[in-house]
Amino acid sequence: MRNLFDLIKRRIETTGPISVADYMDLCLGHPQYGYYMSRDPFGEKGDFTTAPEISQMFGEMIGLWSADMWMKLGSPASFTFAECGPGRGTLMKDMLRACRIVPGFAAAAEIHLIETSPLLIEKQRQNLVGYNVTWNASIDALPEDKPLILIGNEFLDALPVHQAVMTGSGWRERRIGLRDDELIFGLGNTLLGDDMPDAPENEIYEYSPFQDAIWTNICDRIRQQRGAALVIDYGFTADATGDTLQAVKDHEYVSVFQSPGECDLTTHVNFARLQRLAHDLNIHGPVTQEIFLKDLGIELRAEKLITANPQMREKITSELQRLTARDQMGELFKVMHVSNL
Ligand code: SAH
Repeated sequence: MRNLFDLIKRRIETTGPISVADYMDLCLGHPQYGYYMSRDPFGEKGDFTTAPEISQMFGEMIGLWSADMWMKLGSPASFTFAECGPGRGTLMKDMLRACRIVPGFAAAAEIHLIETSPLLIEKQRQNLVGYNVTWNASIDALPEDKPLILIGNEFLDALPVHQAVMTGSGWRERRIGLRDDELIFGLGNTLLGDDMPDAPENEIYEYSPFQDAIWTNICDRIRQQRGAALVIDYGFTADATGDTLQAVKDHEYVSVFQSPGECDLTTHVNFARLQRLAHDLNIHGPVTQEIFLKDLGIELRAEKLITANPQMREKITSELQRLTARDQMGELFKVMHVSNL
């Protein structure tokens, strides 16, 4: 299918080269041809596997973290329990199941999912039968009159990011144009000004007003409504330059220009920037996913599951490894939460 390629080509021919952010936005979110709009990308048969799809233990641990935050808030009778970019709804389902042991939590939780893909909303609906769920296209629609506990796993990495390239005369935006009917990277004419780091020539720097705006909105809500927000993503913990834009198809890295709209496109999240934007809140982490899950007791949970299902020992042990081992998801994935508790 060349539909999205043709659309991007027409756009470039009409209005000139596009930014990397526009490219990501079109590839992931175009209402008709966007990656998330047209497929369920998760699991072995899909393009990539996320932590909630590896094991129920992941959602159970995050559920217990949420219940702990709710109790620290004073167990309010009503609060917004929100998840951004919930994929198949597996994480929310596992969190809610784990929280059944916490009296009052389920009755207090008003469940909100923030999702743009109609196809994934349908999957979430099927996965969460029996729960009262509200779907929102953006966090702007979340209630403003009650505390908020918000989760986002591999959500920020899917939001559009701009890239700049250091040239002899300063930073210029990296743009995507056409040559011989192929997409290629080029440079914008305008020099980019404030808020840019120093770097050697040809270095790439990524920034995302879109990510910043969403995260700032979340932090403002935590300040005003009280609550906590937890984000889990691959990323770096100190400011860094470098090109982290990547495309994945069938569990393999491919060129970011391969089959637009048919490959997942992501960048690494800059947690130092998230920390700065959250400045006056209580900031925990980022810590590695290994440390976060082990602190919450995932090893104990795995042992309990094995005792109850001895025939599953190998499977459960290997899932635990995938989530926590440093050469798997344990180190690359970082967890950070902010609160005003
Ligand atoms: N959290 C899930 C899925 C991660 S993939 C998991 O761990 O399995 C990214 C998710 O974010 C998808 O559900 C995708 O449709 C959603 N998404 C992408 N851009 C979005 C946006 N701008 N607003 C809301 N959801 C978005």
